[in-house]
Amino acid sequence: MLRRNLLSGFVAAGTLSGLPGPEQQPVTAGGVFLERPLAGQPHQGKVLLALQAHSDDIALEASGTVAKLIEEGYTGYLVRATNDDMGDSPGLGTVGTIGENVLGNERDTARIAEILGCRRRFDLNYSNHRMADVSLNELICRLILIIRLVKADTVVCWDPWAHDEENPDHYTLAKAVEAACWMAGRAHDYPEQFAAGLEPKEVQDKYYFARRPEITRVVDISKQIEKKVEVNRANVAEGPGGHLGSRLRAELAKRNQRLPLLGDDDATADRNYIREFVMAGSRELGRQYGVEYAEAFHYIAPGAAGADRDPRVDAYVREHAVPLK
Ligand SMILES: [Zn+2]
Repeated sequence: MLRRNLLSGFVAAGTLSGLPGPEQQPVTAGGVFLERPLAGQPHQGKVLLALQAHSDDIALEASGTVAKLIEEGYTGYLVRATNDDMGDSPGLGTVGTIGENVLGNERDTARIAEILGCRRRFDLNYSNHRMADVSLNELICRLILIIRLVKADTVVCWDPWAHDEENPDHYTLAKAVEAACWMAGRAHDYPEQFAAGLEPKEVQDKYYFARRPEITRVVDISKQIEKKVEVNRANVAEGPGGHLGSRLRAELAKRNQRLPLLGDDDATADRNYIREFVMAGSRELGRQYGVEYAEAFHYIAPGAAGADRDPRVDAYVREHAVPLK
């Protein structure tokens, strides 16, 4: 679901003064990390699992980052938890019946996965706005199976710890993802999955997005912005992008008016509308961090959960162990 005020909560974190050289640099005194474009495919061999409740979540919040990570070598998979049967707010997406919403969003999600370069997608088909009474353990178990199946190293999802989230699908999915990322790596949870040939696989790091994010990482998506525009153009049934540009162009034409912004054909109208209005938040965030377009995350680094053995124990042993007499 669109959050018009998604970016309004961003705190200006100061601008950068020049970012030459190294690809990764801390940005501000507040410790926000700016993830820059990486040369080549350094993530080759790693697996990215992008999870969303609805067909427009990743498109709006993180499609630039998902596209970037896949371009940089990750193998990507897309999970959509609901069937989007409730459609979207008045004036957004495409007006339709519940059944039409389901079909439209299913087709849009397939196209979005294709544009992002995902290897495949999984639609879990829970009812839209109804995930609050889904069994959390069932959802966790399904996600554990997917994590083990695709051998996910990194996830992109809603932040389970974020504020101001009113949509139960967002926080229910996020909560389940958080648990599944950890439990998937354990040797005794759901042993029948091992009998079926899977192995434990703990997720290493997490890019969490939110309506009011606790920003610890900002990703420069300037190189991926046209892909993000295309992803949002494909989000026809539900998104605030889709065909709203060409629709506005047609409405104006009926009144003998036109906007130069919307160009001379429908595809240009849709793209320029999205770039101008839907990408405004990414542009504003980018401006704050000295790049053209950006996305913000609460990033959880590998090992940050602290659920495993403290690595300082091994370091201590290496330094202090002496031979037995
Ligand atoms: Zn949503």
